[in-house]
Formats: sequence, structure tokens, C-alpha cells
Amino acid sequence: MHMTSDAHLHPVDGIMPERYPDLTGLKHSLSCTSTRDQWVPLMEWGGETVKSFGIHPWYCDGWDSETESALLDILREDKGAQVGEIGLDSKRGSVTEQMPVFRRQLEIASELGRIASIHDIGCEKEVLDSIRMWGKGCRGIVLHSYSSDSYVKPFTEAGCMFSINPRILSRSEIRLKRLLSSIPLDRLLLESDAPFTAKGFEGMGAFTGRVASLLGMEPSELEVVVDDNLGRLLHE
Ligand SMILES: [Zn+2]
Repeated sequence: MHMTSDAHLHPVDGIMPERYPDLTGLKHSLSCTSTRDQWVPLMEWGGETVKSFGIHPWYCDGWDSETESALLDILREDKGAQVGEIGLDSKRGSVTEQMPVFRRQLEIASELGRIASIHDIGCEKEVLDSIRMWGKGCRGIVLHSYSSDSYVKPFTEAGCMFSINPRILSRSEIRLKRLLSSIPLDRLLLESDAPFTAKGFEGMGAFTGRVASLLGMEPSELEVVVDDNLGRLLHE
């Protein structure tokens, strides 16, 4: 249990310990924000986690030049600060409006050599093209709640990590196995997205065990793999 990690969570949205029993036992974690008013609360949040600052595609109308300067200030001040959650979402809002906000934040992550955590619903091609054009300098790219096996190859070639969310467990076992086995093991991450966890979420230990069984691995073996992957991304 002590080796579990979480590649995507939102601490300032209020995570309830009873819904996430092993939260305090995480070895490595990467936290995100969605709006500018969450940035200071995350900075002040006392838990041990790597902190990311960004504007989520659902809230892209909150982006302006002043917000951009505030983001740049945070990142220049704290070399350990990362960029996220940014991205594109074809199911909510307008991708045309989200694109310049995503692009600029990705460019900033790239210029400053930071990790970008990316939300993508139905915009695989646009996200891939954006990473190729504007994300080359990022220290790492985490594709949050990853779900598309047909894009694993090009995203791998673009240097991305694939973060699997328990929401995916609602798929058939055949599709799950196909997705999981398509992802190179050294690029695989696991996440909760807490407090926005999937129905039935019982902690990262339980989720890791479930993914391990789908991959035909021992839970402890997979815990080490995903924790090494996240640790390498965050701290090397
Ligand atoms: Zn999220």
C-alpha cells in the first residue's frame, strides 16, 4: 500500500478521506488546478505533492493577459511548479475557444521546461498536433484519463505518459486489456482525479490491484512500475 502513487488529483476541490482511504499513504502525486482562484489555495495546501497551475478547458474564458502573467510569475518563482490542468474538450464548450488558451499554456510549459497535464475529450488529433508543435520543451506530458488505444503510438513517439483513470473500468474487459497492453509499461501512470473519482473508487491501492490483474501482473509489481514512472517524471 505504501508504494501507491496518483498522477492526477485536485486537492483544493476537497478530497474526502473516507472516499479515498489511502490518500495519506501516497508516495508520489501530481496535483492540478482548474481555475485561477484555485492557484493560491493549492500553493498554500500543506500536503506533500507536486503542484500544477493552469486553466482547464471548461473554464477557458477565465484566461486573459493578466492571468497569463500570474501563471508565469508562479512558475518563475517556483521551479518545482508545473502546468495543468490544460487541454481540449469536444463535449463541453467550444474547442475553437479552448485552443488558444491550451496552446499558450502548453507553450509556457515548454518554454519553462515544465510538466504539462493534459485533459483531452475527443480531440486526440488536435492535442497530438499541439504537442508536436508547441510542447517539445516540456519536461514531461501527462495525458490525464487516457482512453484511446489508436493514438498510443504517436503519443508515445511524442514523449507522452498515459495516465489511466478508474472510469475506464466501465469498459469491457477485452477493450480494457487492449488499451492497457498497448501502452508501454514505462509510460503507464495511474490516477484518481479525486475528488472527481469514478463510482466504486476505493483508493489507489485497490485500483492498482485491478489494473495489475488485467495486465497479468502482481499488484506489488505494478505498484513499483507506476510509482517509478511517476517518481522519475516528477523528480529527475
Ligand atoms: Zn482533473
